[in-house]
Amino acid sequence: DLDAEPASTDTTGRKRKIAILTSGGDAPGMNAAVRGVVRAAISRGCDAYAVHEGYQGLVDGGKMIKKMGWDDVQGYLSVGGTVIGTARCKAFRERPGRLLAAKNLVKEGIDALIVCGGDGSLTGADLFRSEWPSLLEELISTGDLTVEEAEPFTHLNIVGLVGSIDNDMSSTDITIGAVTCLHRICESIDSISSTASSHSRAFVVEVMGRHCGWLALMAGIATGADFIFIPERPPSGEDWEDEMCAEIKRHRDLGKRKTIVIVSEGAIDSNLKPITAKDMMDLLTDRLHLDTRMTILGHVQRGGSPSAFDRNLATMQGVEAVEAVLASTPDVPSAMIGMNENKISRTDLMKAVALTGEVAKAIQRKDFVGAMDLRDPAFNQQYEQFLATTLASNDEIKKNVQPLRIGIINVGAPAGGMNAAVRAAVRYARNRGHTPFAILNGFPGLIAGQVKEMQWMDVDGWMAHGGSELGTNRDQPSLDLGMVSYQLQKFNIQSLMLIGGFEAYTACLEMYNARNVYPAFCMPMVHIPATISNNVPGTEYSLGCDTSLNAIMTACDAIKQSATASRKRVFVVEVHGGKSGFLAVMSGLTVGATSVYIPEEGISLARLQKDVQHLCKRYSEDAEGKSQGRIIIRCEAASKTYTTDIVASIIKEEGHQQFDARTAILGHIQQGNSPSPLDRIRAMRLAVCSIDFLEEHTSDISSSSSTHSSASSGPAVYNKDPESIAVAGILGSNVSFTSVESLLKDTDMKNRKPKQSWWMDYRRTGILLARSKH
Ligand code: ATP
Repeated sequence: DLDAEPASTDTTGRKRKIAILTSGGDAPGMNAAVRGVVRAAISRGCDAYAVHEGYQGLVDGGKMIKKMGWDDVQGYLSVGGTVIGTARCKAFRERPGRLLAAKNLVKEGIDALIVCGGDGSLTGADLFRSEWPSLLEELISTGDLTVEEAEPFTHLNIVGLVGSIDNDMSSTDITIGAVTCLHRICESIDSISSTASSHSRAFVVEVMGRHCGWLALMAGIATGADFIFIPERPPSGEDWEDEMCAEIKRHRDLGKRKTIVIVSEGAIDSNLKPITAKDMMDLLTDRLHLDTRMTILGHVQRGGSPSAFDRNLATMQGVEAVEAVLASTPDVPSAMIGMNENKISRTDLMKAVALTGEVAKAIQRKDFVGAMDLRDPAFNQQYEQFLATTLASNDEIKKNVQPLRIGIINVGAPAGGMNAAVRAAVRYARNRGHTPFAILNGFPGLIAGQVKEMQWMDVDGWMAHGGSELGTNRDQPSLDLGMVSYQLQKFNIQSLMLIGGFEAYTACLEMYNARNVYPAFCMPMVHIPATISNNVPGTEYSLGCDTSLNAIMTACDAIKQSATASRKRVFVVEVHGGKSGFLAVMSGLTVGATSVYIPEEGISLARLQKDVQHLCKRYSEDAEGKSQGRIIIRCEAASKTYTTDIVASIIKEEGHQQFDARTAILGHIQQGNSPSPLDRIRAMRLAVCSIDFLEEHTSDISSSSSTHSSASSGPAVYNKDPESIAVAGILGSNVSFTSVESLLKDTDMKNRKPKQSWWMDYRRTGILLARSKH
């Protein structure tokens, strides 16, 4: 409901005053959090305040605590760091400093504080809350406050938002800023990779992470590094240096021209001795005689405009923080807003802080298994998957595996992460003893017999490649089912991995439905969703949608800048998505669009009229001579009648002289260039789990099934079980497999999308933050 009125007061009937501060190290996305808090607070009928320079602003008071209006946070989304400033404040660590802070809050009438920072900042916040009654007592006893002044403020509400580039906080899967930091690291390492390859050099790259190896591990996965060092999992055994050199030599012998080693700043060996980038550089130079360079990325990692993920995470969490403040009571512990299972969550702040400290303690007592267990389960799994897709041979993992001939095919439009998935599948499959085959140019290629065995080195560097190296198109097996079956049999393909969009899903269905006629289709098949539209059933995210979101965001930031420079311009930006509004909704939130048109809601004259009225109101409110550029996002299939041109014409006509309207149709730039780190990481995870799935659905039937293959180079595989053709989905924090048949009931085949759109919560937040109510 676009017009739902927000509640204007809290349960006590008093107008709430909610303040936000950012503290500790800056993190990209903090500004989006401030914007989310300010606008959500105003929407809920509260007054919003920003405390400048972290806790120092609370201690100093006065003009450091500023009331914020709706427009004060305009333009915040795209800005890195924190506009309201941050600091490390010594005074707040001591009680006298906190006394001053309490006095200043009461004098301003503020009774709720949202703190965005790392574990230190959140520890300080909770201490402040627990001391609050005694601080007020002391202020009354010293005459700094009167009883009447203090009386309405017996309880201080504290809510924590985790702004930390290290992703080092427990009880949340991800922290604000970590993904942007990963973007900066991957951009840097991608650049280093090209010069390393040119000169056949080795590079040792130091990344941030004093107690947490998340950045190093994820960067290692995303850039296809040869080796990583993290604090939680030191290299095992006394001879790890020999093993590392042997592994790097193996890579070189296979033909790799570059070597990348990533070292967390907190990396240690099993005796807690630091492993430094310099040590590793010396090792590679002395032992392997590689021309080795060292790059310490340093503060570059903190910089730049936030990624789409961080903008949306921080925005959603900022809004949730205001809800948590309004729901808070004196007996409920302070809340920390996190993200678990792809949902914004509330947890006990102090428990989360205590658990975070446990990791460092576990490392100190050399309990590295315990330290890894304290991280989220995906972290441990991804570490193993990194090894399994990086090591050139690992005899350990070949045990008890039936060798399979696995066909890998791309289907549909290109999407960021397709190549990364092929790379991980090829390397993991080879390490497991399978033989991977690339099927080139989709089903027409298969029909023409374009099938090629893939070696470990064939996919080198593919992590960072956009598009589809195998070649992809939308053609279906029904183009010639007989030939598809024939070629699969001819090449003795025993299981199939399809990487693609909705077309890959329908291709699976076609082959599933034809199993009775063509026994060649009676084998395990897995569909890894890869489409920028994110419209495949059975998954919350498909490969490519994050890359696309970032490409749209970058384009819209530039468009918005242009629109703002010309002062009175509205851009109607058309984005892809087919009948799915995912990209439109998510990019709308990312760039702060004034309105978003999606196929799920359609466009009506009444809606257009309302939006024009809203634009007129907003332009009339803009400061004299400083009208903002504004963006409306329209999904390509939002309406047949109200096309992008027509929407822009109507807005222009109705805006009279007040504002102008232009269109921007983003087209294929939305496929992005190089895949985003999240898409690369998801690609690796899905590919590895999918090979496991193919194995499981082979071994299940290997002893009991009849044989239909005459191949001599592998076991016969025959599986007609509906469960053996499945979509590999990211559901919450897990990879789950759902059979294509059972997904039919959840799929809107006509509109080529799932029946449920989990992202509608983001839509509601977008509406809330685009409309000034007060
Ligand atoms: P980062 O992860 O970037 O280091 P952080 O929030 O952990 O961020 P800290 O320097 O530990 O950074 O803390 C920031 C500020 O929070 C401190 O300068 C101090 O003002 C306050 N603070 C931290 N710990 C405490 C504490 N135990 N008691 C009171 N205040 C604290």
